[in-house]
Amino acid sequence: MAGLVAARELARQGLAVTVLEATDAFGGCVARHEVAGLMLDAGAESFATRSPIVAELAAELGLGERIAAPNPVGAWLQLPESAQPMPSTGILGIPADPAAPDIVKAIGRRASLRAAADKVLPLGTLLRKEQLSLGELVRARMGSAVLDRLVAPVAAGVYSADPDALDVDSVVPGLRAAVTKHGSLAAAVGALRQAAPAGSAVAGIAGGIGLLVERLVQDLKDRGVKLVAGAPVTGLERADGGWQVRSAAGDFDAAGLVVATDGGSAVRLLAASIPGLAAAEPAPGPAVALVTLVVDMPELDAAPRGTGLLVAPGVVGVRAKALTHATAKWPWLAAEAGPGNHVLRLSYGRAVGAGDGAEREDFTAWPDDKLYGQALADASVLLGLPIGADDVLGRKVVRWVGALPSATLGHRARVAEVRRLASGQHGLQLAGAWLAGTGLVAVIGDARQRARLLAEDLGAGTRPEEHSAAADTP
Ligand SMILES: Cc1cc2nc3c(=O)[nH]c(=O)nc-3n(C[C@H](O)[C@H](O)[C@H](O)COP(=O)(O)OP(=O)(O)OC[C@H]3O[C@@H](n4cnc5c(N)ncnc54)[C@H](O)[C@@H]3O)c2cc1C
Repeated sequence: MAGLVAARELARQGLAVTVLEATDAFGGCVARHEVAGLMLDAGAESFATRSPIVAELAAELGLGERIAAPNPVGAWLQLPESAQPMPSTGILGIPADPAAPDIVKAIGRRASLRAAADKVLPLGTLLRKEQLSLGELVRARMGSAVLDRLVAPVAAGVYSADPDALDVDSVVPGLRAAVTKHGSLAAAVGALRQAAPAGSAVAGIAGGIGLLVERLVQDLKDRGVKLVAGAPVTGLERADGGWQVRSAAGDFDAAGLVVATDGGSAVRLLAASIPGLAAAEPAPGPAVALVTLVVDMPELDAAPRGTGLLVAPGVVGVRAKALTHATAKWPWLAAEAGPGNHVLRLSYGRAVGAGDGAEREDFTAWPDDKLYGQALADASVLLGLPIGADDVLGRKVVRWVGALPSATLGHRARVAEVRRLASGQHGLQLAGAWLAGTGLVAVIGDARQRARLLAEDLGAGTRPEEHSAAADTP
């Protein structure tokens, strides 16, 4: 997405653009696939509405009418002893009000009292630590029940990581400063939530988020951008003030580059040209296996677990970290699937613990049949009704290896260092989730900005008719 968005921005600035993509398909983590005759998202399936940036892009691509809100019933939380509707927490599972009845139900009265101590505990030196993990902050302020039962399931769902390994400044920029300003974690979370727009925190696109890629690719073609798939870039070298790009599809000369791969690939490609960059190579991110099942089960019409569940660590017998009941979440999909038919998406793979003792669950090496068996067993437990192979109309496994960037401790400092090193390079910009942060809002906003910086660097002018569209993005 970063590469496609950057290409579009550069073309809008009047530059001749070529996109080189390693795989056979454009879009990376944003992709659709067909299961039981339905076109479904195989990667990202929603976008955050905290910024208008994705909706604006969708509208520019003619998808404005298709932007869809999810079913407001909300998701559930699977705790070791029971399932309950997900409490309305503030940010990444951290409650703004630890005494709210749904929080008390999830963590118990004693833990709720402990969490409320956050309001009176002195801040001490914790917030001045150079590296602070999400887990450390939440445990210190609100106690381990909030961490294990509320924050860990959400962190696993979004980052496939343990909160103790996540860099708080990477995953919730501004939280540290807000705690200092407001005096407690709960007040900080409340203030950040209040600043967010009202309404649902996410939205989708009827037909799938993958439509964004299909429309973007068409838009790029219309703008004369050359799109080359199956062309992994294997080398980048300085040449005549610009760059020579070696790829499986041949060599290219470029005045400027936006390198929009994953972090490991970007660093390896540029290390020879940028002294010091090799030391900033990020560790590979988590590997995730997604199992999609399309089932004929009218019993699921009632959406027994809302739009799906996040699974807390320690739930015996369930290996999935999350289940999305996609037909319950997206009314447009329910209409397409037809009565009694349901789409379930189970995700596998998370890290438990941090540092040397961390255990990384990786299911991507499991064969498809084993994953299907596990998915049927997990879906039966999580949804509270037996789902057998006979109920399945279609199924598919997707493995995302190295697609999610790491947001582990020290990541923000690494990003700053990479940005610093790259800023001295004429005709070069780096984009993508490893630098911008996970999620379409962060990736798209950053890619647009990086492309504009490159266009400026190359002396391309902003076209007057494009100016207003360009000016209203953050
Ligand atoms: C399963 C899953 C679900 C997600 N769900 C959501 C969601 O619901 N909402 C949300 O906002 N975000 C979601 N995300 C995150 C979001 O999809 C990503 O943050 C975003 O799409 C990343 O875009 P990107 O362009 O940075 O990277 P990528 O999508 O990883 O693209 C990088 C591209 O670079 C290519 N490449 C790599 N090396 C080379 C090379 N040497 N030469 C040429 N090309 C190369 C790759 O093939 C790939 O196409 C999800 C991610 C995953 C994996």
